[in-house]
Amino acid sequence: MSFPALTFNNRFINNLPSDPEQSNGRRQVHHAAYSFVDPTMVSNPTLVAVTDELAQLIGFTAEDSDNDDFVALFSGNKLLDGMQPYAMCYGGHQFGNWAGQLGDGRAINLGEVVTPSNGQLILQLKGAGPTPYSRTADGLAVLRSSVREFLCSEAMFNLGIATTRALSLCLTGESVERDMFYDGNGKGEPGAVVCRVSRSFTRFGSFQLPASRGDLTLLKQLIDHTITSDFPHLGEPSKAVYLQWFSEVCDLTCAMIVDWMRVGFVHGVMNTDNMSIIGETIDYGPYGWLDNFDPNWTPNTTDFANRRYKFGAQGQVSQWNLFQLANAIYPLIEEAEPLQQRLNDYAQQYEQQWAEMMSKKLGLKQCNSKIDIELFSELERILTITVMDMTIFYRQLAKLPLELAQCDNNRWLELFECCYYQLDSLHPLHQQEMSQWLNNYITRALTDDISATDRTAAMNAVNPKYVLRNYLAQQAIELAEQGDFSEVHQLQQLLLRPYDEQPDFERYAQKRPEWARNKAGCSTLSCSS
Ligand code: AMP
Ligand code: MG
Repeated sequence: MSFPALTFNNRFINNLPSDPEQSNGRRQVHHAAYSFVDPTMVSNPTLVAVTDELAQLIGFTAEDSDNDDFVALFSGNKLLDGMQPYAMCYGGHQFGNWAGQLGDGRAINLGEVVTPSNGQLILQLKGAGPTPYSRTADGLAVLRSSVREFLCSEAMFNLGIATTRALSLCLTGESVERDMFYDGNGKGEPGAVVCRVSRSFTRFGSFQLPASRGDLTLLKQLIDHTITSDFPHLGEPSKAVYLQWFSEVCDLTCAMIVDWMRVGFVHGVMNTDNMSIIGETIDYGPYGWLDNFDPNWTPNTTDFANRRYKFGAQGQVSQWNLFQLANAIYPLIEEAEPLQQRLNDYAQQYEQQWAEMMSKKLGLKQCNSKIDIELFSELERILTITVMDMTIFYRQLAKLPLELAQCDNNRWLELFECCYYQLDSLHPLHQQEMSQWLNNYITRALTDDISATDRTAAMNAVNPKYVLRNYLAQQAIELAEQGDFSEVHQLQQLLLRPYDEQPDFERYAQKRPEWARNKAGCSTLSCSS
């Protein structure tokens, strides 16, 4: 097979113990970090989309994706020399409850590439057939969820948010049975495989599982491997280094969640098995993007009752998840106090970084005081009660002329009209509150010495114009299911430059149309994928 330029150095399997059994029969796997398992062959694979820039980063040439071997490779039909496919063993807390062993039920790591620029990237197929961790499920993925994972991974990357990436999206040519609403109405859907790419697919749950089984040998091996591979600057692993490492995982997680809050991303399933140890957004399932700003919103139908993973809870949940990680690594540190202290600091760190992020969204140089924080909270309250589009609001705010010392109601209404979902029923009191807020904001913004052009540019650099609105993804999926991938490609192109004005694509920056408000796939998503 071609692609001679790719070389592999599979550190995870070189450094960590494997499951001695080599079948893909479902089982509990002890004293091993992974199981060797081959992808399942598929009948008629086709390439739907590829991320060219990532392909080249990995070491492919611009022409390689036209090669039949490329689609064979990334649909699971072929392997390259040096690849040693394996599924990872991990556990996790799901919706707050310990779930025991989970593992890669439908993900298979092909190998770790040494890139031309001397980076190390793991290639992973999602939906390439069963593994020992598939439990009662089939190890497969359908087109609808694969389009969502493919587009959103790259959308997040281009927003500058830490994430696993997506190299390719292939159709398998096979039909996969899914009951999307868990209502007994299953149907065949097109099968698909996404190739995900990351420096590490290790999750909080990877450490939790050996800890829960009292397997301190494996726990230590996993932590040492993670530090050596992904946190090499920390030096030789030791108790002190474990603490520093935990602290860095807190830093990375905090930065990632604050970024989610900045752009209105709701992960939807922040179980500890879906938390990356290198602080990347991982496992794009029933995620969603805020249209109207609403801290209570969750796209995940499984979470409707408790709203554990709603937008406004993501900061707290991340702390809860870090607490579970701290519990898991405690046996190697044997001191609760420093871990507890770091977790306490996390709450403060999160608040502080959130406030800094909000300052930037509002074009302020920094958060100066409690009064600024009140300004941020008051804005979020008003955006919620007046049902305003979050993304459009911040772009419009960047256009607000600050020299309007006293904000004129008519002028601001004109500017923000495009953000309201219920303009007709806008309560005069709420209108007045917004007016008041704008006045306070202008007064505050004028205390910073910054030119109008610089202010607008700074705001537009952190407030995206284009995000993967739920209904846009759904429209692309519906066409894709009929064999038309033009919208997938269009969105892929559009979301390469989310902060730039793209006049030809203005329609993708509009607020959610009314028909999409309660439509499945647009506002509600199940875990079925
Ligand atoms: P998720 O909620 O997608 O993070 O998945 C939770 C667990 O279920 C993970 O261990 C997945 O690998 C597994 N899983 C989800 N869907 C499937 C599937 N179709 N086949 C096998 N395992 C799956
Ligand atoms: Mg998962």
